[in-house]
Amino acid sequence: MKDEGFFKQILKKSIIFKSLKFRIFVIVLLVGIIPAFVMRVTLIKSYEHRAVNQRITDITNQCTILCSRIIEDGYLEDQDNEIINNELTQLSNLYDGRILVVNGDFRVVKDTYGLSEGRTIVSREVVACLNGSSRMSNMDRRYGYLEVTIPIDPGNGTVAGAMVFSASTDPITVNKNNLNHRAWIVEITISVFVLVTAYALSSTLLKPFDKVLLAINSAKEGYGAELKKMDVPDYTETGDIMEAFYLLLGQINEADKAKEEFVANVSHELKTPLASIKVLSDSIRSGENVPVETYREFMDDIAQEVDRENRIITDLLELVRLDKQAVSLKVERTDLSELIEEIIKRLEPIALERGIELGFKNETDKEVFADVDPIKLSQALMNIIENAVKYNKDFGWVKVGLDSDIKFAQITISDSGIGMSEEDTSRIFDRFYRADKSHSSQIVGNGLGLAITRSTILLHKGSVKVTSVQGEGSTFTVRIPLIYEA
Ligand code: ADP
Repeated sequence: MKDEGFFKQILKKSIIFKSLKFRIFVIVLLVGIIPAFVMRVTLIKSYEHRAVNQRITDITNQCTILCSRIIEDGYLEDQDNEIINNELTQLSNLYDGRILVVNGDFRVVKDTYGLSEGRTIVSREVVACLNGSSRMSNMDRRYGYLEVTIPIDPGNGTVAGAMVFSASTDPITVNKNNLNHRAWIVEITISVFVLVTAYALSSTLLKPFDKVLLAINSAKEGYGAELKKMDVPDYTETGDIMEAFYLLLGQINEADKAKEEFVANVSHELKTPLASIKVLSDSIRSGENVPVETYREFMDDIAQEVDRENRIITDLLELVRLDKQAVSLKVERTDLSELIEEIIKRLEPIALERGIELGFKNETDKEVFADVDPIKLSQALMNIIENAVKYNKDFGWVKVGLDSDIKFAQITISDSGIGMSEEDTSRIFDRFYRADKSHSSQIVGNGLGLAITRSTILLHKGSVKVTSVQGEGSTFTVRIPLIYEA
């Protein structure tokens, strides 16, 4: 058992056994050699079987004729019959064997070797023949002879005696060995041919995979540089592998680019408030006799910029945590109507300032409960509803609706705001992305709010979509599963 484990370990560890080339080689080898081996063994066996049967038939025929003569000439009682004696000797010489003639009393009346005459023989075959069985035969492979026992049957229902013929099987063995020898030559020739074929086949069949490896390695070495695609169309599989590889490489490049863009954006966004602070503080320092009001005004501006910087850093940290899924949701059964009403209440003052009507309707006319993290979801929805107010026209409207089916709660936020282009709708969930720059410059924001919203909603296993018509307004649709399955 210990040894078996050891060999299994070697098998597992050994690279050669894991090699597909080696396995193909072995399979082809076995498929070629095993049939050749089986054919040789079957051929020899069937030859031997047929040869032995033929010999038994021949001996039986000859002995049957002789048995008739023995009966006719009363040889069992008197063995001085020269003709029969000669025939017995000739027959035994012909098959290089020995004939015993046994009478009804199990006594050997004639032995062509002259050794057992007068003795009693009670072998199983002789007893069976004298008891009425027909021909019996068996083969002794070890000593190379064949024994056929035939009843001496006068045809009157009794058995007068038995003839036991032990014939040599040497001629069969010689022929068998000859045949075996030739079969071996054929088998070895086939094996050599199969060996060469297996080697050639395993090498050529796997060549395209070497090309795949080469292509992947060259892409690895030249990573980052302009990619020269190498197709390996030899097999559908290699073609598919290369396609999947370049697709993955494309995705990695995209991710790299996005990361670089993100870092550039972060630096830029973090620098902007700092630059403002620097300008403000420099102008206070360089000015002489600056009135206290101006100091206060500048300090207020500086405080605002610090708040902005702080907000960017807080949002970034939140995004990173959401991205890493490091946050665990504190899920609890929450009345979504209540949660939305709370958000509306907090945003109403800002909306009222600009004469924007902010309304909420629960379409289901009953409470909608869902397993959510109320603080996180509240923040996510707040970002959308706040945007709907922020990017609206004065005296416009924002409508928030709540609906549900068996599995999902659906929250829609529509506004009569500035809307956005199709390209913008596909990008507003990206970090730092701000649509229409002319509006963005007047409206405070850092382009991180919707990125946080999307990450939070995805963490809830929900979805968020937007449709918009420029100049007319936008509609955000959020779907959240009623039951949270971690
Ligand atoms: P921001 O801090 O700029 O508001 P967000 O991530 O919340 O960042 O939004 C990204 C951009 O999407 C916004 O700058 C704005 O251009 C656009 N946007 C978001 N909501 C709306 C809306 N309701 N109507 C028009 N544009 C919107």
